[in-house]
Order: sequence, then structure tokens, then C-alpha cells
Amino acid sequence: MERELESLFAQKKLRLTTPRREVFLAMQSSKAPLSISELIKKCPISERTSVYRTIDLFVRENIVKIVPIGWKQKYELTDLFKKHHHHLSCTKCGNLIDIHSKNIETVVSDVARENGFSETDHTFEIRGLCRDCK
Ligand SMILES: [Zn+2]
Ligand SMILES: [Zn+2]
Repeated sequence: MERELESLFAQKKLRLTTPRREVFLAMQSSKAPLSISELIKKCPISERTSVYRTIDLFVRENIVKIVPIGWKQKYELTDLFKKHHHHLSCTKCGNLIDIHSKNIETVVSDVARENGFSETDHTFEIRGLCRDCK
């Protein structure tokens, strides 16, 4: 996985600095999307400002995507590094559960096509209460 990042950086002619590596590894090891403050906690070597700058760069370079969760936003690796998926989001405990659903993807591309729309990306979130909070 880190190899993939190295070759991607080489290809984009970007330097793989310590914060860039640290942020990437933190995101890669996380099961769920991370908020910026969670990410900062997971990156003890890097300064706060470098974590912010790295995230900006990663979003621009399509390494990380923004996941809107309610009115907040979190970050996770893009489909280049993680299989395409969506989330169930618990409004009580904040837990996020990955969902992989062929049906959702089919509906999304059908709706886009039926409207003569050429889709580049989509977000989809189901909010509610998880098993533990119900
Ligand atoms: Zn919950
Ligand atoms: Zn999708």
C-alpha cells in the first residue's frame, strides 16, 4: 500500500515528506473516516499545520476525499486506495459503518444516465441509529 503511495508521488513529482507519509499511514490504518482533530491525534510526529496542509494537498491530488457526515466533514482515502463504498452514520454515537452495495451504484448510474448526466462522483449517506444505540 505504501508502495502505491510512493509510485503515485513519483508519478506526480511530489516529495514524500514525513508528514505526508504519516498522514497517509494514519488514514490507511483507520477503519472509519477521520475528522481533522482525530487525524491530528493519530499523527504525533507531524505539526498540526502540516497535517492541515497535507490533507489539502491529498484532497487536491485525489488521494483523500471529503466525507460529509451530517453537517461535519471527515476524510478517508479515495477509491484509488480503498474499495468504493458508502456509510451508515449513527446520529447518537457517531459510529460510521462501511456499506458496499451494488444496488446503490446501479441506481446512481441509472439515474445519471437517464438524465443525460455524465457522473464524476457521488456521495451517499444513511443516517440513523446503530444496533447498539437503537
Ligand atoms: Zn450508535
Ligand atoms: Zn457509490
